[in-house]
Amino acid sequence: MSRFWNKKINEAKPYVAGEQPKPGQKVIKLNTNENPFRPSPDCSEAVKNFDMGQLRLYPDTDSVMVCEAIAEAEGVLPSNVFVGNGSDEVLALCFQTFFEKEGNTDLPVLTPEFSYSFYPVFERFYDIRSRKIPLREGLRIEAEDYVGVPNCGIVIANPNAPTSRAISLEDIRKILEANKDSVVIIDEAYAYFAEPYETAVTLLEDHPNLCVVRTLSKSYSLAGLRTGYAIASEELIEGLKRCRDSFNSYPLGRLEQVIAAAAVRDQAYHSWTRQEIIKNRIYTVEALESLGFDMPESSANFVFARPPKCISAQKLYKNLKAKGILVRYFDTEGINDRLRITIGTREQMEQLIAQVSKEVEDAKAGSDNTQD
Ligand code: PMP
Repeated sequence: MSRFWNKKINEAKPYVAGEQPKPGQKVIKLNTNENPFRPSPDCSEAVKNFDMGQLRLYPDTDSVMVCEAIAEAEGVLPSNVFVGNGSDEVLALCFQTFFEKEGNTDLPVLTPEFSYSFYPVFERFYDIRSRKIPLREGLRIEAEDYVGVPNCGIVIANPNAPTSRAISLEDIRKILEANKDSVVIIDEAYAYFAEPYETAVTLLEDHPNLCVVRTLSKSYSLAGLRTGYAIASEELIEGLKRCRDSFNSYPLGRLEQVIAAAAVRDQAYHSWTRQEIIKNRIYTVEALESLGFDMPESSANFVFARPPKCISAQKLYKNLKAKGILVRYFDTEGINDRLRITIGTREQMEQLIAQVSKEVEDAKAGSDNTQD
């Protein structure tokens, strides 16, 4: 609290990002859903060829070079693409552009009860009413629960985070059809890890109220670059640009644009990393299940695993951390019995499994003497 801050900032409850190790600290980092592989080699080539003299000039506001690469990869027109500084920024602009403010309306934004923890931060910060829709058995999103519920907008992460479960395109279509007067945001941060791959981008033609938000942070291994994008009708894209230009018209620098475009143009490398992660996920799920864990079927680059009864999620989280393995634990009722574990390289996952196996054995033998 500070007397120099306004009421909004004094009352804000900012997002808390997953822990980042200090430089030089050796850990196995499986806590923020980053990609363990390097970005495409074409990114390094693009940096090598970049003329630093260009940095004298402001970058292209619309990041047209990146929009064109994304449009080609996604099979849409560049005018259907909006690029921002990470999908967090794109989502923030969506909340400000499409959802009614408190005072104008009583209608809430609908989001699943357990979902990306930035959504409630945005709702609070932008004074938007919200309604949390409970998940069904097995942490499943049920499309029917979003039909006939008055709202000023809907946000669904697909696959959902932290649950890792996906809903089908048919279900998304049902939600879009039942809410034609609201913008429906489908946050596809993890969609490229689903098998088989599906995207709501294919529903765009029939649904001008659909806004698909995606990122280069996960499947393109570029979390450190900060590039995300929305794909939507030109009407929605224009709204996002009006919002952006009332705040910061240059979300991506020239160098970032060059790197982002190079990554998106290298679809062969993108497919390779996705396939590696999917293979490592299969290995991890089988290994964890054989140790007594259970988890919903994952379509993402992480699993949301419940340890066997002999050890609590919180205890396991702490013990792993003490051994230099970072995973994510949410101290929130309803999901505090699970760990969200990012899928890394095969070697990282083997090290995780070896340590988890030891922790489970120790707990079963009642010889767990790790200090809390
Ligand atoms: N959406 C979801 C569901 C996420 O988990 C994340 C990553 N924390 C993001 C969006 C934001 O990703 P970024 O800002 O790195 O594009």
